[in-house]
Amino acid sequence: EETDGFRNEPLTDFSLEEARTKMLAALEEVEDQFGKEYPLLINGRAIDTKATITSRNPSHMTESLGTVSSASADDAIDAIDAARRAFPSWSRTEPQYRAEYLELIAANMRRRRFELAAWIVYECGKPWEEADGDVVEAIDFCMYYANQMRHLAHPQHCDVPGEENVYFYRARGTVAVIAPWNFPLAILTGMTVASLVTGNTVVMKPAEQSSIVAAKLMDVIHESGVPDGVVNFLPGIGEEVGPELVGSPDVEMITFTGSRDVGLAINESASDTDTRQKMVKRVIAEMGGKNAIIVDDDADLDEAVLGVIHSAFNYAGQKCSACSRVIVLESIHDTFVSRLVEATKSLKIGPAEDPGTVVGPVIDEEAKQRILEYIEIGKEEATLALACDTSDLEDEGYYIGPHIFTDVDSTCQIAQEEIFGPVLAVIKAEDFDEAITIANDTPYALTAGVFSRSPAHLNKARMEIVAGNIYLNRNITGAMVERHPFGGFKMSGIGSKTGGPDYLLQFLVPVNVTENT
Ligand code: NAP
Repeated sequence: EETDGFRNEPLTDFSLEEARTKMLAALEEVEDQFGKEYPLLINGRAIDTKATITSRNPSHMTESLGTVSSASADDAIDAIDAARRAFPSWSRTEPQYRAEYLELIAANMRRRRFELAAWIVYECGKPWEEADGDVVEAIDFCMYYANQMRHLAHPQHCDVPGEENVYFYRARGTVAVIAPWNFPLAILTGMTVASLVTGNTVVMKPAEQSSIVAAKLMDVIHESGVPDGVVNFLPGIGEEVGPELVGSPDVEMITFTGSRDVGLAINESASDTDTRQKMVKRVIAEMGGKNAIIVDDDADLDEAVLGVIHSAFNYAGQKCSACSRVIVLESIHDTFVSRLVEATKSLKIGPAEDPGTVVGPVIDEEAKQRILEYIEIGKEEATLALACDTSDLEDEGYYIGPHIFTDVDSTCQIAQEEIFGPVLAVIKAEDFDEAITIANDTPYALTAGVFSRSPAHLNKARMEIVAGNIYLNRNITGAMVERHPFGGFKMSGIGSKTGGPDYLLQFLVPVNVTENT
């Protein structure tokens, strides 16, 4: 039966005391669970491995949150095998029933939303609102893809006298889902439930840094009654289990979200066909960005400053959609920069569990070192206009305050490479045309934005900016399922947009049956 369409799950309004109380209670309850162990789950069986991953709180680096089993290459083979064996029966399960499983998963997430958000706060250093947004997006993916599948389940007929034609979709097989840590619940859920609802079976490999949040997702999926073997939980080290997943002749599809280098390597090795393989592997790889916002000379500067700050520094700039370049028209450049610098100084930096925090820590030591290296490079290439001090938090966690560089040339490293931290490059443009040329002058094409009052310029931006998601007169992060289908092209990825009408088709094979009647 049809559902009556899709609606986005509302975000939590933390200005209400009731919501704050619930979140504080969840943070306390989750804290009581620190130190637990989380096994692999293969064919419904929990498996403890010798090797483990210790999950740490980036806000308080000495705080261990628990240990997660770390899969070996042999475990990966077992997980693929379990998924392969679960495929015939799962792929023949009515699409309506598979959609209902997604709605059950969504209902269980709704019920546990504060608990899940609390785990995201602790494990990924995400401030409250963003952690809540992560859970909401996960729920939206379930509800939206369930709804989409109900539509796709209708076969299309094209009959003529004497001939009946039916066009319908079939599942592909086993999908290896390989996810990043920065949307630890939403992205892993989206890729997994899209695979499920289309009748595929899954081996789920989360990022090391967010293995516990992933274990909670596995728990939600399990408690929703999804049959054994349909989703297998394979936390582990990417370099160890990744090649097994990508190279296996029994994996038909790899759905990856993460960095460009890993995505390109996966794409390459997936194309290396094994003689035992029965299908050419399909790769979806959603990768990085070097996203720009253009500030036109007639822009509302109050709005532009807020939009840029929000896009560049929330969650310490660790979103693929984050703004890392702001291109400012010459005539307003100095005014804009001085306002931007002043406003950025007021951002509250601190542990993610503190309700007022806007800029939390970065994910781990490796990320911190990489970002600090880019800051050093920036000092050589450009002018450091602002470096927010975090020395009082130095011993506590992986903190880096917002950094703003000015006098940046578009060809600089800090203007070309994804830094994935709170570092913003300001580039000057002579006129709007040059601003667009600069915006397009990177290998990426993920998000972009423009602040302008000129309808002609906004129209030009629509037509000429090369990016998957273009935002006019607002921030460039926070894409919502259905309203803002998300994803890029060029070196930002291969695949059609998540949370959009074409996404599920990638997980399906179309078949046409012609009967002579
Ligand atoms: P990452 O280092 O590329 O890791 C992503 C996943 O790939 C992890 O699960 C990782 O496992 C795994 N992996 C590592 N090496 C592998 C290999 N050789 N074979 C198979 N899998 C392997 O990315 P990240 O640091 O988690 O995430 C940040 C990046 O993701 C940024 O570049 C960001 O722009 C991008 N991103 C893009 C989107 C989008 O929608 N376009 C969304 C979010 C993030 P380990 O954790 O064990 O290394």
